[in-house]
Amino acid sequence: MKFVADLHIHSRFSRATSSDLTPENLWLWGQYKGIGLVGTGDCIHPLWLDELEKKTEPDDNGFLRLVPSIASGLAAQVPASCRREVRFVLSTEISCIYKKNGRVRKVHCVVIFSSLEACRSFQQRLAALGNIKSDGRPILGLDAKDLLALALECDPHVLFVPAHIWTPWFSVLGAASGFDSVRECFEDLTPHIFALETGLSSDPGMNWRLSGLDEFILISNSDAHSVSKLGREANLFDTDFSYAGVYRALADRNDPGMTGTIEFFPEEGKYHYDGHRDCKTRLHPRETAWYGGACPVCGKAVTTGVMSRIESLADHPQGRRGMRARPYFNLVPLEEVIAESRGVGSQSKQVRQAWFDLVSRLGPELSILMDYSLPDIAAAGGDVLAEGIRLMREGRITIQAGYDGEYGVIRIFDELQRKQVRGQLSFL
Ligand SMILES: [Zn+2]
Ligand SMILES: [Zn+2]
Repeated sequence: MKFVADLHIHSRFSRATSSDLTPENLWLWGQYKGIGLVGTGDCIHPLWLDELEKKTEPDDNGFLRLVPSIASGLAAQVPASCRREVRFVLSTEISCIYKKNGRVRKVHCVVIFSSLEACRSFQQRLAALGNIKSDGRPILGLDAKDLLALALECDPHVLFVPAHIWTPWFSVLGAASGFDSVRECFEDLTPHIFALETGLSSDPGMNWRLSGLDEFILISNSDAHSVSKLGREANLFDTDFSYAGVYRALADRNDPGMTGTIEFFPEEGKYHYDGHRDCKTRLHPRETAWYGGACPVCGKAVTTGVMSRIESLADHPQGRRGMRARPYFNLVPLEEVIAESRGVGSQSKQVRQAWFDLVSRLGPELSILMDYSLPDIAAAGGDVLAEGIRLMREGRITIQAGYDGEYGVIRIFDELQRKQVRGQLSFL
């Protein structure tokens, strides 16, 4: 069966997240977005795991489903065009901060469990090592390799995935506090790592430049801190809709079950270019080299972005395909395409309303972005929107790249183009 999976999100118990992150809303938004499998996020946090146990029940496939009485109470909020099965899989992110080989390392990993029992036993082990109540994403003074060993002890079928691997501050390959290879971090346990999360600021094409990553399959997740961001990056599967199916698709090199990923345009990510946010300094890696790595405004060292970091570790030029390569699709969130088609801000009320209208009339967001025909989109949302979707699908958009924690800025149209599209179409 074909399904979309978003395996790394957060609950409202993580720092800087929205209070709308409840099991009920994740179930609803999974349907609005077109996602069949949602990682629970934060499954080590005691309050969140208790809530999950209360509001969901294990299915026979290693996933959780919303208890039927809750689901039936919510069903009226789901337009017929979006109705689908949504299951959850137990997952959490964990932050390891420790010293290794003479340097402080900060590594985030996503851990996905095959059962509630395994998750509970891991929770108990971590509770003995640090504070698991203060943040949905526990912060531990533990070596990431030891964390992997512990996870394997609690769950032989755990999926342990280094998160957003290029983020400068908190990742296995990050410029500021990561390593130069996955093996340097996980040593002899490296074969238990099957997948790497590429993060918002890089896409698979950039990662394929490193032959050191060939043994891993590349996955993408939203890392959502509010429900509306669910599925902004995600994974496409065509396999059994079960934990075993997902596990096989990632762990077995010959299994074709993972068929691709949904990606941001990497320039949209917060760390694509180098730069210094306080001074609004945004630098292409070539410019950084020109300025000797210092901010031309204040002279402080700039934050090295993902493009630079990959350039410094890559052993191939852009254009190489990785050994476990899958197709990928660079998308812009629908609310941004709507906002661009109307020339208004993406957080405005009219955009939110138009988004809901469109999803109710046509179907889930990801299907609108990827699958539906342009005439159908034009009929439901207008000609300018359909033209925006076409330009996005063809990659013909401009983006001011993100840097030092600042998201990139997308432009699909300028005012003249919007008028031209309307004018041409009314002329025809
Ligand atoms: Zn993280
Ligand atoms: Zn500066």
